[in-house]
Amino acid sequence: MAKINRIRTFAMALVFIGIFIMYIAIFVFSNSPILMSIAMIIGFLSVISSSFVYLWIGMKSTKSVPVTCPNCEKQTKILGKVDVCMHCEEPLTLDPELEGKELDARYNRKNFQS
Ligand SMILES: [Zn+2]
Repeated sequence: MAKINRIRTFAMALVFIGIFIMYIAIFVFSNSPILMSIAMIIGFLSVISSSFVYLWIGMKSTKSVPVTCPNCEKQTKILGKVDVCMHCEEPLTLDPELEGKELDARYNRKNFQS
């Protein structure tokens, strides 16, 4: 997954986890004010931190470089030196020296994990 999408997914997950924790706080810890307060605070912090992640990815994406993917010929963005196409997951790099072995090794390793 492209870095921007990955971070967005993470921020989205934080929102849902936060809401889930607050839901648990209300319905599971309803007879324990201390546990409920702690869970509410954790859930709240989770939602707040996701806003910061969104803010951060917003700033990051202004620094990303728009390119046309050589594989699927759609517009995508590169974050950092090495990233993958948002549409077809084609590995892309801005640094010509990184083309070849290093990139291959990285993506092979990723494939082994999944
Ligand atoms: Zn592509």
